[in-house]
Amino acid sequence: MAADPSLRDKMNALEQFTNQYEEKAKRGLVQQAVINIPVVVNVLYRTAAENISLAQIQSQIDVLNRDFNATNTDFNSYIPAAYANIKANVGVTFTLQTVVRKATNKRSWTTNDDMKRSSRGGINPTSPTNTLNIWVCTLSNSILGYAQFPGGSSATDGVVILNTAFGTTGSARAPFNLGRTGTHEVGHWVNLRHIWGDATCGNDQVADTPPHNTANYGCPAQGHRSTCTGTPEELWMNYMDYTDDRCMYMFSAGQKTRMLAVFAPGGPRASFNP
Ligand SMILES: [Zn+2]
Repeated sequence: MAADPSLRDKMNALEQFTNQYEEKAKRGLVQQAVINIPVVVNVLYRTAAENISLAQIQSQIDVLNRDFNATNTDFNSYIPAAYANIKANVGVTFTLQTVVRKATNKRSWTTNDDMKRSSRGGINPTSPTNTLNIWVCTLSNSILGYAQFPGGSSATDGVVILNTAFGTTGSARAPFNLGRTGTHEVGHWVNLRHIWGDATCGNDQVADTPPHNTANYGCPAQGHRSTCTGTPEELWMNYMDYTDDRCMYMFSAGQKTRMLAVFAPGGPRASFNP
């Protein structure tokens, strides 16, 4: 927002647009067929291990397809009874179009988007107005990945994922070897916030998810409650928490509606939904 002051207005406008879409959805006025997203994966490597295999790349695409279509094998794992009815099939599919590979002498990259710019040694995105670009590289500071929310510059649009937290095979390392970093980051890319709202008992702008004290890590105990108003059980198995890959396995219906709003006519990613 410091670099692009117009972003705040754009995000506020998108929040209003999303509220209107949610009202229409409540009244049964929106119908959405499955949306297919073409994907380009951009691999930056210095070592052979960083030049990940096509099998590892496809394994991440496969996870996205399972997690966004409720066909993941852990979809029916434990969830607090209060939320048994909010689990959602989002209905977005992903198809790998191309892999772009580039050798580099950089040992690691930061969150300044250099990996997205050929002028800084990175790879420019391919057709970002109708293609999801994923950059896979070594990130510094223990960062697993980061994403650009809808409404930002198309020159930097997409998600970035640490190569050892990408996919389910090859260089992927436990506890981040089930592809859920990709699911989480793509969730941001379609406008989902962290489930704790990035504040103590914060607001994720989704009505059916409970307030959380803060991020959860590892695998919390069943029945773990927040100390927020009403002390609800926390939805730590949601993809937008920070739990280990094996302990996140669902989106909520409210998150689904929020995601689909960005693809609706007039939404910031409508060009992905012709
Ligand atoms: Zn996140």
